[in-house]
Amino acid sequence: MATWDEYDLEEEECPSCGALYSVRYKELPLKDKDSFHCQCGELMRSWKETGMYMYTLIQNGES
Ligand SMILES: [Zn+2]
Repeated sequence: MATWDEYDLEEEECPSCGALYSVRYKELPLKDKDSFHCQCGELMRSWKETGMYMYTLIQNGES
């Protein structure tokens, strides 16, 4: 089974609610078209490339 490289990226904070996410990037063999929205609905990132971004919530923002 092939494995694909993963990278740690810098943490990102939602500009709308202040929630903090750790971000990892994973290479994929095919183009991925997707996006990630914060739990408050703010668009954090959209992409269309041979990789995907994985967001993990570290800290909740103000609600
Ligand atoms: Zn947010």
